[in-house]
Amino acid sequence: MTHALPPATASKLAKLGIRSRFDLLYHLPLRYEDETRLTPLGQAPAGTPVLVEVPVRRVEVAYRPKRQLVAHCDGLVLRFLNFYPNQKAGLEQAARAGLAVRAYGEVRAGWFGAEMVHPRYRIVAPGEPMSETLTPVYPTTAGLAQPTLRKLVREALETEPIEDTLPPDLLRRHALAPLAESVHLLHRPQPGADTGPAWRRVKFDELLAQQLQLRLARRRRAGRDAPALPADGPLLKRFLGRLPFRLTRAQRRVMAEILRDLALPHPMQRLLQGDVGSGKTIVAAIACLVAVDAGWQAAVMAPTEILAEQNFRKFSTWLEPLGVPIAWLHGGLPSAERKRARKAIADGAAGIAIGTQALFQEGVEFARLALAVVDEQHRFGVKQRLELRRKSERAAAHQLMMSATPIPRTLSMSYYADLDVSVIDELPPGRKPVDTRLFAAARRGEVLERIRAACTDGQQAYWVCPVIEESNESDLQAALDAYEELRRELEGLRVGLVHGRMAPAEKQAAMQAFAKGATQLLVCTTVIEVGVDVPNASLMVIEHAERFGLAQLHQLRGRVGRGVHASTCILLFQEPLSEGARARLKVIYENVDGFAIAEHDLALRGPGELLGERQSGVPLLRFADLVADEPLLEAARAAADELLAADEALARRHIDRWLGLRADFGKV
Ligand code: ADP
Ligand code: MG
Repeated sequence: MTHALPPATASKLAKLGIRSRFDLLYHLPLRYEDETRLTPLGQAPAGTPVLVEVPVRRVEVAYRPKRQLVAHCDGLVLRFLNFYPNQKAGLEQAARAGLAVRAYGEVRAGWFGAEMVHPRYRIVAPGEPMSETLTPVYPTTAGLAQPTLRKLVREALETEPIEDTLPPDLLRRHALAPLAESVHLLHRPQPGADTGPAWRRVKFDELLAQQLQLRLARRRRAGRDAPALPADGPLLKRFLGRLPFRLTRAQRRVMAEILRDLALPHPMQRLLQGDVGSGKTIVAAIACLVAVDAGWQAAVMAPTEILAEQNFRKFSTWLEPLGVPIAWLHGGLPSAERKRARKAIADGAAGIAIGTQALFQEGVEFARLALAVVDEQHRFGVKQRLELRRKSERAAAHQLMMSATPIPRTLSMSYYADLDVSVIDELPPGRKPVDTRLFAAARRGEVLERIRAACTDGQQAYWVCPVIEESNESDLQAALDAYEELRRELEGLRVGLVHGRMAPAEKQAAMQAFAKGATQLLVCTTVIEVGVDVPNASLMVIEHAERFGLAQLHQLRGRVGRGVHASTCILLFQEPLSEGARARLKVIYENVDGFAIAEHDLALRGPGELLGERQSGVPLLRFADLVADEPLLEAARAAADELLAADEALARRHIDRWLGLRADFGKV
């Protein structure tokens, strides 16, 4: 039985994700301090904290060089720059009673001999026994001191029975240590104890909880209703008969996977992965057409205006000849037109609605939404993605999420495990690999010459400035300066500019001018990172490439190499390079395959960054490390199937214990 937490500390504990006494057991130490042995004063090594025991002789408040509490002990001075009155009283009392302190800290040589500054200490009677186990140091939060946490955890260890949620045969098969033993050991190991098996057990349990949760989510989805959309309508037939190009084998395969899902009366949740330029848009258009054929609506949402507009234009070119009415909702729309678009969506006149996330906000009502497509889903934050998932779940719509950032295997086996995945692993024919070059910033002159040569030859180029966050004023100013400078340096060339802070109409105009070839060089920020498609652009220069992330560099580079010309991507970097920047540039220079780059990215940054969870507050895995614990993840996957088949009630108990009410745990 779980006892209530003391109310005074409950809110602080909640910040640590601890909602019950039982949760305290899973609040595991970051590290340990060794208070099992006393070090004789004379033998304290420099730079390493040790535990010493010395009698207290005299206590004073000194004023030089700063007000401080000084406790003079035999052979050691303790100094406290901040102290409480009762701390002083306690030490004075100890001095009077002839007691000693056990102080934990670094012994340093001070003015008056050996001293410790701000040690942790306890007053002890002579001969008091030493701790037999290491002292845990827990992750904590402001206002919650280690001793308090230690006491709470110790009480929980004494009062909470730790029943193993896994059956003995499963433990045996996966060579897992018993739970109670593992938890006790991790909180209070003896010096030199091997905590490996205990950590393995805890990580396994966490991964298993995630696997079970995602499997149950998938099962619930399979039990819900959605419109069945058979792929036998006239529009689809006509479109397939007059496709603008021959689909690649991979495109045909994923199309079949999607159409098979749509034909079922349960909501699809499929992730369509394909490297930049692999041709996801036409697959999405085909899926939308199936919905329209069946008398339903589809929505296509993109993370930026530029991308939404590009989708709109492609969809219009392809589908308007078939008479499919498309509504286009974007920020730059005059209010009368916006009203008209919304009305068309609400009364069902629009078969397909295209826009940014505004499509799912601001009270846009769909008459009969059957399919929601999310383009470049990795650009939305974890929270937005979960919200979208919930919205289309409520609408009982099918969902197709598209991503050009390949998801490393371990991530798709964990966080994405409740989704079905289709992969376009082939580029349309005729793509030329992009030649990647690394140039130190000092070689700018050469780069300018290359731009001039390409543009004179009728090709076009991008110049990407390092505006990582469009809200960063100084970054933006630097981009504007770069634009002015390039215009001067490349006099005679037609230079355009696009960045995220421009009004939607201006942005569109700038993009269109570049798409039409009216401008030859486009100076831009990462607003062009996702999805922008101008095949005649064959040269990309990325300024301060060392400041970009791997996924960004890969996406940016994917903007070239889409047409008939051989393409080049020049990464201009500023020296000196940090170690991380050097590692990233090396990866992007040596790899063209998005999956390989994503694996490197995961190894360099960890999953939290990759999933975009940093500020999302969505709980991710606490203990398991997807890179280091991949074999354990495999084992947990197998065990999830075993456990669900053998004893579903036990499986649910296991989830509850780990996740409690955090329904979205481990999902992205
Ligand atoms: P992404 O997967 O990055 O969204 P797009 O759908 O924008 O890629 O496709 C990239 C470019 O390739 C577009 O110009 C598109 O029209 C073109 N394309 C897509 N599929 C094919 C194909 N099978 N053959 C030739 N060109 C294609
Ligand atoms: Mg795209």
